[in-house]
Amino acid sequence: MSYGYDLTPEELVEKDRQNLWHHLTQHKIFDSTEPTIIVEGKGCIIKDARGREFLDCVSGGVWCVNVGYGQESIAKAVYEQLKKMPYYALSAGNPPAIKLAEKLVSLLPGTAKSYISNSGSEANEKAFKMSRQYFRLKYPNKDKYKIIYRHRDYHGTTFAALSATGQDERRMGFEPLVPGFVGIPAAYCYRCSFGKSYPGCNMECARALEDVILSEGPDTVAAFIVEPITAGGGILVPQAEYFQVIQEICQKYEVLLILDEVVCGFGRTGKWFGHQHFDVSPDMITMAKGMASSYMPISATVCKPHIFEQFINDPADTFAYFRDISTYGGSAGSCTAALENIKIIEEQNLVERVKEMGNYLLESLKELAGFPVVGEIRGKGLFAGIELVEDRSTKVPVSEAYMGKLLSIIASQGVLVGRMNRSVPGFNNVVTMAPMYIVSKEELDRMVGAIKKALETVQ
Ligand code: PLP
Repeated sequence: MSYGYDLTPEELVEKDRQNLWHHLTQHKIFDSTEPTIIVEGKGCIIKDARGREFLDCVSGGVWCVNVGYGQESIAKAVYEQLKKMPYYALSAGNPPAIKLAEKLVSLLPGTAKSYISNSGSEANEKAFKMSRQYFRLKYPNKDKYKIIYRHRDYHGTTFAALSATGQDERRMGFEPLVPGFVGIPAAYCYRCSFGKSYPGCNMECARALEDVILSEGPDTVAAFIVEPITAGGGILVPQAEYFQVIQEICQKYEVLLILDEVVCGFGRTGKWFGHQHFDVSPDMITMAKGMASSYMPISATVCKPHIFEQFINDPADTFAYFRDISTYGGSAGSCTAALENIKIIEEQNLVERVKEMGNYLLESLKELAGFPVVGEIRGKGLFAGIELVEDRSTKVPVSEAYMGKLLSIIASQGVLVGRMNRSVPGFNNVVTMAPMYIVSKEELDRMVGAIKKALETVQ
């Protein structure tokens, strides 16, 4: 195969070093190490240009190749669709986009419309734009535009999505960010911002939303965006009541609730969507990664009827439609990939499988609880984190150097796991795991074994 496959490993490395700017990478390291170049994948295994194989326990690095590598039916379906009709702008419908929109709404009872775009960041941008325009249409004399977000949550790389992101590592150096975005503390019992402990905490982390709405002025706040389970910020699972309190506050002050399901959506946590573990009914749901298991880029912003209806209420106002476009959003090939991916999840009962294998994973990880550096093990479904601390009583995080060595010992055993983004400088101390939905028990055992060995040997 050409397109780079005709090059030798040495040529690939050389050309990579010369031309390719890797994401999230300090390129100085390539003075002393080779860039990793991934050339193949099958099931849960990837192979690099040097022929080394790895058990991929982060589903494509960023928790997205959920149904695993080598799903031929997705490739074939996309090929057939591209031959038939590759593209026409979504100002017109196309059969896969129509079918996908219907499917998304059916997976999310109570919703009415799916707005399709290309990435998680974009899906969130659309949600912010919908929120602002919704209130401008509804209350022309009010200025209800602010967006509240949570510390440690990540919502994307574009400027508004970044402004709604509670992770210093992602924001630093890009300021000034967009005005009108305000943060509240994370739902993070292990390091409660209020110094309380559950259940005697009165859900202060959720009630902080009300304090901020009141201090900003309820008439100025449009929406609250939140991940159902904080992903890159350290795998933080909220308590059962958290979202009930959030929902009540949002309803009280007419603040739209946006659930960012970019990571948790499509089965990752053992339910179709992460928020379905909780008693909550969001106004908008954004999704991306697991939607087509990243075989093609695609995302969506799915909303309840009242959001959409606001955009058709005043036909005399020729500007009162959602004035947004995304060239590739809803392209036929991407929608086909999503439909085929969802079919695989349904036909192979993968959401149920994630639940079962997730229970097995969390049970297996208990084996590591005895290591003095293990502060907390947490997760839901096939999505787990191990928070590492120097000292359990002070909860001082292990150093970045420790994390670097730990992960490289794990990788040296042919297993790839991840680590959290630095939400606060110095905090990089959660090992993250998001194996594919098709992972076997033996593969999970191998992953846990590799982490155990690394914990035993790291200095
Ligand atoms: N939202 C969450 C929760 C994410 O984890 C991510 C990416 O990791 C995004 C949004 C942004 O998605 P994308 O990188 O596709 O723009």
